[in-house]
Amino acid sequence: MFNIVLFGPPGSGKGTQSVRLADKYHLVHLSTGDMLRREIAHETPLGKAAKEIMDRGELVSDEIVIGMIEKQIEGNPEAQGFIFDGFPRTTVQANALDNLLAKFASKIDVTLSLEVNNEELVKRLLQRGKESGREDDRNEDVISNRIVEYQNKTAPLVDYYREAGKYRSVWGMDGIEKLFQLLCEQIEKTG
Ligand code: AMP
Repeated sequence: MFNIVLFGPPGSGKGTQSVRLADKYHLVHLSTGDMLRREIAHETPLGKAAKEIMDRGELVSDEIVIGMIEKQIEGNPEAQGFIFDGFPRTTVQANALDNLLAKFASKIDVTLSLEVNNEELVKRLLQRGKESGREDDRNEDVISNRIVEYQNKTAPLVDYYREAGKYRSVWGMDGIEKLFQLLCEQIEKTG
């Protein structure tokens, strides 16, 4: 198995790039944000509880997202590998992911971090809010909260993966095509 974590703040391009990378390298794309939005669309109890938290731009509980990821890994025994998009977002989640993969005699091979500055992130998210109708992309206060959550809870994972020798930083400001090319180069160096 070849497993990638796509890492970066909201609006850095993780979703767009994950879809393309999953297609090119035959990986299963797992986005906890997409899973949560599906729960909301189906009006499940989990979705209802998550919506309030997501609408404020905060992180939902580790327990919920770890449970969703566990179900997906167990449900894809034929997978050649996974691309994790928007997960892990806390150290607890990163530890849980390592333990889960270890159960399948697997591991994270590389963490690719998309580097985009805050001004550009806000611009992109507001634009996406107009196009996609995602509620958490429409309000500048919610966007700021998500960036603060990222800085406080997710950015510390840089050290977690750097210490494991798995962290690669990739410049994400030069457009979708260029970023895709840089990500592929990193993957091919690792694989
Ligand atoms: P995303 O689509 O990845 O930007 O996620 C949208 C929202 O879903 C986030 O702002 C969080 O509220 C929630 N979310 C997604 N993934 C996670 C995660 N791994 N841990 C906690 N909350 C998450």
